[in-house]
Amino acid sequence: MADCDSEPCRERGAQRGEDASGDTPRRKPFNARGSFVTRCEACRLPSLNCLCPYKVATTSETRVWLLTHPYEHYKPTNTGRLIGDILDTTEVFTWCRTAPDPTLLARLDDPRFAPFVVFPDDQPDYAERVVGPDAVRAAKRDGRIPVLILLDGTWRQARRMFRRSAYLAALPVLPLHSERTTRYRLRKPAPSEHLCTAEVAAELLHQTGDGEAAATLDDYFDAFNDSYAASRRHGKLEAPTAAMKRLLERREHMR
Ligand SMILES: [Zn+2]
Repeated sequence: MADCDSEPCRERGAQRGEDASGDTPRRKPFNARGSFVTRCEACRLPSLNCLCPYKVATTSETRVWLLTHPYEHYKPTNTGRLIGDILDTTEVFTWCRTAPDPTLLARLDDPRFAPFVVFPDDQPDYAERVVGPDAVRAAKRDGRIPVLILLDGTWRQARRMFRRSAYLAALPVLPLHSERTTRYRLRKPAPSEHLCTAEVAAELLHQTGDGEAAATLDDYFDAFNDSYAASRRHGKLEAPTAAMKRLLERREHMR
């Protein structure tokens, strides 16, 4: 995997004064409210409400590849990482404008996969690339493995990643059309129709025929959201939520 956090890459960015653009990784680990709390090393949540008991593996026909903005790796509130906890075929690539990850480039060349870049269809200049969930089902029927490429970052970062990555320019674009509003409440208020990365994955898996994986991911995301929010209030969740109970049952069934 190309290491976008590597010193040379960081230095190149710094020399060009790109810190203001939001694309240059921080020099220090993420340091924000809550960074002093004791965290579980596995799930990175405050130990008080560790998420690990609710982690349950499932499978899906469609895979997810995350193209993660370098900043996101440091943020404990990142939800893209939840997808890999649930679906172990998930791959994570660090986005770097100047040095695309060679493993990702090789994956994109592999005819077994049918990759779709998930992005809104709100601009006219790539309208001819836009497809719907049916295209994912068609790829399955053709014996290929559909892959959702999720641009994991803020909306502004995702837009830059989409526009500035030549290796994504030939791929079909799969927008998410959904009535769902976000349940994510760990960052600054955003428009309610802006779903976070784990929610986008769950919704698209649901729309393309992987209902079981979608439901599990949805529950896991809920568990994450509630655990994190409780920790911010410095409280321990007294009892498992409904989503947590379903995850515990799924784990029990798998034994
Ligand atoms: Zn944990």
